[in-house]
Amino acid sequence: MTVSVGLLFPDLLGTYGDSGNAAILAARLRWRGHDCEVVTVRSGDPVPTSCDIYVVGGGEDLPQAQAARQLGAGRDDGPLQQAVDRGAVVFAVCAGQQIIGRTFSGPDGLPTPGVGLLDCTTAAGEGRRMVGEIVVDPAPDLGLPVLTGYENHAGVTRVGPSALPLGAVRRGWGNGGDSGTDGVRSGKVIGTYLHGPVLARNPALADRLLSWVVGEVAPLDDAEIDELRQERLGTVLAGAGWRRRLGRR
Ligand code: GLN
Repeated sequence: MTVSVGLLFPDLLGTYGDSGNAAILAARLRWRGHDCEVVTVRSGDPVPTSCDIYVVGGGEDLPQAQAARQLGAGRDDGPLQQAVDRGAVVFAVCAGQQIIGRTFSGPDGLPTPGVGLLDCTTAAGEGRRMVGEIVVDPAPDLGLPVLTGYENHAGVTRVGPSALPLGAVRRGWGNGGDSGTDGVRSGKVIGTYLHGPVLARNPALADRLLSWVVGEVAPLDDAEIDELRQERLGTVLAGAGWRRRLGRR
């Protein structure tokens, strides 16, 4: 079986390096002897419904709205919806998470229809833009190690009753407001505010997505990534003192 990873609109949603998530998924499959193809879907291209995993990245407000339209936002038969109905995995970061929710704040600040894969809505935050390193404790039922990443967004996401947060924010903002959470999940669809690219910094999360396609995956030697994770987590958690003095969580 050739696993097909759909990288959606890197020309619109590539501002924060999230295309790396597709590269990580492909590499971790190939290192284990699986065949894999990355299907890069650019703005204006038809969106295939046949991929096994879709990755959607972050971006600015205007391109984000364009991407949502091309994904059939506001309809219940858009290409991503069809793929999910078939059992595909979707992993979306920041603007990606916002556009696969029910509504998000458009470039004019008004609520704009999303793709509706996740029960969440995003509105423009009232305070400063949320920028910096973020540490998230994944929900216990996921059995994943702590997540490390970087966030840069204005939107505040509220998780609705038919979805769950990805985890609890230890440092940073995540979904923002008074939620104390990051991310939204429902079945095999996951959103998060973590850039990084997040799957490079959190290989266990990458492997969880892959296991939903190929079944249990063999361990890899992640010693080098573990070292990077320890460095990032140590720096961010040790930096909590000055962040608090500046009034940041
Ligand atoms: N434009 C959105 C916001 O500011 C998403 C930003 C991003 O993807 N980093 O909330």
